[in-house]
Amino acid sequence: MATPVRTCVGCRSRRPQDELLRFVRPQEGRPIMGRRLHGRGWYICPTRHCAGKMEGRLRRWFSTKEIRSIRQAAMMMIEELEQRS
Ligand SMILES: [Zn+2]
Repeated sequence: MATPVRTCVGCRSRRPQDELLRFVRPQEGRPIMGRRLHGRGWYICPTRHCAGKMEGRLRRWFSTKEIRSIRQAAMMMIEELEQRS
């Protein structure tokens, strides 16, 4: 089975799903990251560039404060990935 292709909300490029980080917006509470979670989600490339640029997309869903914490979580995740590779 082919890997589904998804669009990064940062740079708009289309990549295989497993090369992207997935975030999910739950009904309540903080957004979480994970591939197997259900709910309305979005994808970004695991790069600081795209984590920085996802903000525009998130503005209609979250407050500035929430966006800041989402971006911070994404940056930490990306740093971890960079250290592992
Ligand atoms: Zn991207």
